[in-house]
Amino acid sequence: MTAVSTELTTYQMFINGEWVDAASGQSFESLNPYTGQAWAMIPDGQEQDVDRAVDAARQALDHPDWKRMPPMQRGHLLRRFADLLQEHAEHLGHVETRDNGKLIREMLGQARALPSYYYYYAGLADKILGDTIPLENTSVFNYTLREPVGVVGIITPWNSPLLILSFSLAAALATGNTVVVKPSEHTSASTLEFAKLVQEAGFPPGVFNVVTGFGKMAGGALVRHPGVNKIVFTGGAETGKVIAQLAASHITPVLLELGGKSPNIIFDDATMPNAVNGCIAGIFAASGQTCIAGSRLFLHAKVHDAFVERLVERTKRIKLGDPSSMASEMGPMATTDQLHKVQGFVDGAINDGAELVYGGKRPDAPELRQGWFFMPTIFDGVRNDMDLAQEEVFGPVLGVLKFHDEEELIALANQTRYGLAAGIWTNDIKRAHRVARDLKAGTVWINTYRAVSYASPFGGYKQSGYGREMGLEAIREFTQVKSVWVDLADTVPDPFALR
Ligand code: NAD
Repeated sequence: MTAVSTELTTYQMFINGEWVDAASGQSFESLNPYTGQAWAMIPDGQEQDVDRAVDAARQALDHPDWKRMPPMQRGHLLRRFADLLQEHAEHLGHVETRDNGKLIREMLGQARALPSYYYYYAGLADKILGDTIPLENTSVFNYTLREPVGVVGIITPWNSPLLILSFSLAAALATGNTVVVKPSEHTSASTLEFAKLVQEAGFPPGVFNVVTGFGKMAGGALVRHPGVNKIVFTGGAETGKVIAQLAASHITPVLLELGGKSPNIIFDDATMPNAVNGCIAGIFAASGQTCIAGSRLFLHAKVHDAFVERLVERTKRIKLGDPSSMASEMGPMATTDQLHKVQGFVDGAINDGAELVYGGKRPDAPELRQGWFFMPTIFDGVRNDMDLAQEEVFGPVLGVLKFHDEEELIALANQTRYGLAAGIWTNDIKRAHRVARDLKAGTVWINTYRAVSYASPFGGYKQSGYGREMGLEAIREFTQVKSVWVDLADTVPDPFALR
């Protein structure tokens, strides 16, 4: 553990409406990926801190200030919070860029999009409806209530901390749950800045809590906690498996948003300049550190050579640089582990016989040496059985595969354990819908890529996870259904009398 330095920004955790240190008094450094230097100290929360936060969330759940708050007032609170997010978007964007090294253009864009998530669910807070159910026995009145699931534990990754948190938090609060968040140890600062706005908005204490700390300690304690009623986990597939196993010990339901190996598919009739832009955005935006990265590029044999040529030409012009500069087009990797992992996949692909057509190493430019940069990288001649086509790199590495017809394409595209997203580029409307139907993925984009919205459900097929965030689907995720039976008859018959 490193001692707290006065030169660094020192953060506290947010539990029960108060700012507190970790019970152990320990903290850890948060590093800036562009400079490689520490810039903040984060409390190292552990089991005792998680206990405090879950207890606070449980008490808030049962407290009349939250439990009996009229749904429309919950909506007003969410709206007030969204207004504050709007006011502070710039600051939140800068904190995220400093912590995860992603471009300020992207982090500002994400921060400015956050309020919409809360406005949308603010409007839904008083429209969470049950059903009345006509039964065979007409003297019975049967109806359903949608009630909050309870205390929700949300564990987030480092790549888009606040956006990914908002994918589930807005719906969880709108439906009357209380929440304990455990952000990634690499990027905790923005969630703590965000908590200041939750406090300012006036949510009752304990409704929203943040425990910072490491995955196995703080994250593990949250997942194992018997007082948690649902876990929302966004992160790697292997961690997801551990989370599901830990949660099973208390039959705690889990929503898993995991990784991907998404196909981006270019048919021979696609509008090529658009498809090239969609392909570049799909893999090199965020330096490839997105779960929905279009990391497998399927090119129809007829356009393969021309497309690769255009792609390489544009990739060569991608401007790597300081992520906090609006001129930069690609920033560094968020962690040194990630940088080494990317290099490992590149070396593996070369050994497997893939053809490196661009990149494959760290850039030589002296001004980029201090940061954890990796060049945008393209491999051609990739086979579907190579690691590069099957494993999530989570970096700027694209594998190109060739196909000849639709049937072969569907088989190849679906031949992966993941199923998060897919892109299709074609001007043939029938083919577009046919292929969209046959792809095993939670999101399919036609003639676009990497679009998400608070209004549209998001989640994975296969090992990309289960459960859905956003849209009306999320209301179902964060409520449980109670069936209420009322016998309207004046008398209850003798159970032993023959009828
Ligand atoms: P990760 O799995 O290493 O960590 C994610 C979070 O889980 C962190 O907060 C970490 O501290 C915590 N954690 C780690 N081990 C834990 C344990 N044993 N118990 C409880 N919590 C634990 O993932 P990462 O490296 O932060 O993020 C990258 C991964 O996230 C990629 O695989 C990416 O595809 C995935 N991701 C998925 C989505 C999606 O919506 N599907 C979005 C973004 C990122």
